[in-house]
This record gives sequence, C-alpha cells and structure tokens, in this order.
Amino acid sequence: MRIHGQRPRVIIDVDGVLRDFIGSLVRVYRREYPGHQVAAVDSRKLEDFFPIGEKIYPFMDEMFAREILEEAPAYPGAIEALQRWEKEFEIIIATTQPLAGRGPTLVWLGRHDIPSNIIHITADKYRLAGLALLDDFVDNLEKFAATGRLAVCMDRPWNKHWKGPRVHTVDEFFGYLTEYLRESDFDEKVLLA
Ligand SMILES: [Mg+2]
Repeated sequence: MRIHGQRPRVIIDVDGVLRDFIGSLVRVYRREYPGHQVAAVDSRKLEDFFPIGEKIYPFMDEMFAREILEEAPAYPGAIEALQRWEKEFEIIIATTQPLAGRGPTLVWLGRHDIPSNIIHITADKYRLAGLALLDDFVDNLEKFAATGRLAVCMDRPWNKHWKGPRVHTVDEFFGYLTEYLRESDFDEKVLLA
C-alpha cells in the first residue's frame, strides 16, 4: 500500500465515528433534567428529541460542551482499529466543532491516543487532501463525494438516507478501502492528493 514511502491519506471524522457524542449528550441531559423523556435520536434535528427544544444547542455547544465532549466514550473498537491501520494509511482527523468544543476535542483525542499527525477543526472537510472520507453526516459526505473522491458513511440512525457506501465499524471502513484501492486504477497523484 505504500507509495514512494508514503501512506495514502484518509480523513476520519470524530463525533459519530470515533466518539459517542450523542450518548454523552443524553447522559448529561438526563442528569440535568431527570424528569424529561428523551426520544431516540434519528436525525440531526436534535430539538425534536430533547424536551427543551432549541435550547439543546446552547446546552451542548456552550453550557456543558466541555463535559459532554471530554467525557464521551469512544465507540467500541474504533480507536483500536485506527491504531491497527495506521501502518497502512496516514490518518487525518477532521472534525467540525463549535468554539467551546475545540479545546475539549483536542483533550479527548489526546486522552484516547489517537494515532494521527494531522488534526483539522473545520466545517469544510471536502477541501482537505485525502483519498477518502469516513463520516456520519450526510452533508459532509455529499460535499466530499462531489469532489470525485470516495465518501463512506458510518452507519448511524441519523444517516439512513445516504445512498452511497456504508460501513458499521472503523475496521470495516479500512477493509472496504483496501478492497476499493485494489480494484481501482488510481494514479499516485490522486492517492496522495
Ligand atoms: Mg460526525
């Protein structure tokens, strides 16, 4: 897989792929509002699932951002898969964060020993160099796919409408990618772009 000593670059999202943000949000919410019923989150319109409605956004992006983000669990096996595959691929982390989410996200990535040399905090993942993106947010996948590159969806209840490639674990993503590269006739410039 190495080309001229370099590994192909792949872009990996954080929330919904490596970090269980929603699980952490629900945990903190239930503690703050013990009487409230939280519905199962199956879209990005979070106001539909939390009884405080639109106030969920300042709740998660400002008031409790640090706790929700720093204390969120990793999805089982996700970090271990990155650690296994980093020999084959250059892992680039790309995450969109509110202002108050930047520091806690860097803390989380460090705490979990993420095997990456390059970490981007950006909403414009499609502008980054890399041959493939693994993400759970359909807008990001669509924009990335529109650049002619491989966009792979991490299966979550909120992205069922994505029609392109879909995986259920980080490990499965790298297996899919390896197969994809084997079958494709890439030139090096694309691989390393
Ligand atoms: Mg995400």
